[in-house]
Amino acid sequence: MLYKGSCICKRWHLELRLAMRLEELNPRVCDCNYCGANPASIISTPNMSVDFVGSGVSIEQNGDRLANFYHCKGCKALLAVGRDINGQLRGAVNANLLQDMNKLGPPIQIQPRLLSANEKLERWNQLWGLLSGLEKTRQ
Ligand SMILES: [Zn+2]
Ligand SMILES: [Zn+2]
Repeated sequence: MLYKGSCICKRWHLELRLAMRLEELNPRVCDCNYCGANPASIISTPNMSVDFVGSGVSIEQNGDRLANFYHCKGCKALLAVGRDINGQLRGAVNANLLQDMNKLGPPIQIQPRLLSANEKLERWNQLWGLLSGLEKTRQ
């Protein structure tokens, strides 16, 4: 299944390729301070891929600096969260960017702050999909 989306200012467009339907995915809402200040619900499965097309990204990191938060430079919307794992950019996409976001299953609350760094990396390796298009504009 192919789903499309964009940020509010349309600087960034994305195509999400999923082996399942959006209805089967639950967006994850993180309860940490960073995500409380930058609310987003994110989705990922290990077999998804997300192609971003656009330009101008700012990268932020939160407390433990393990993950990169990619924001559009125009409208500041969160595009994705991710990091390099074994040479590949892996991550989760902001569900609110999708045209069909209302098809998603009910959101679930996550508490990654309770995990150690190693536990987080292990979890991300099992949960995150493949991101492309963001690294080109990394500064
Ligand atoms: Zn968080
Ligand atoms: Zn934008």
